[in-house]
Amino acid sequence: MKAIIDAAKCTHCPKCYVAKECPIKAVFRIADDEPAFIDMSLCHGCGVCAAACPKHAVMLREG
Ligand code: SF4
Ligand code: SF4
Repeated sequence: MKAIIDAAKCTHCPKCYVAKECPIKAVFRIADDEPAFIDMSLCHGCGVCAAACPKHAVMLREG
């Protein structure tokens, strides 16, 4: 599984990257006004970021 961010739903809140929810730090912010970004080469699909997102902007997909 891999986490994918729906940029249309992401409000840059920034729970998933500032609170460092991801145990392997695979979630980043590129710029203040940009959606969160997940490094797919690091993500192992644990779902922690998806559970933490208040906007339901993170989806888990096979991959
Ligand atoms: S699914 Fe897990 S490993 Fe992947 S970005 Fe989210 S918290 Fe990190
Ligand atoms: S927690 Fe959700 S809304 Fe907040 S920055 Fe992450 S993906 Fe975007």
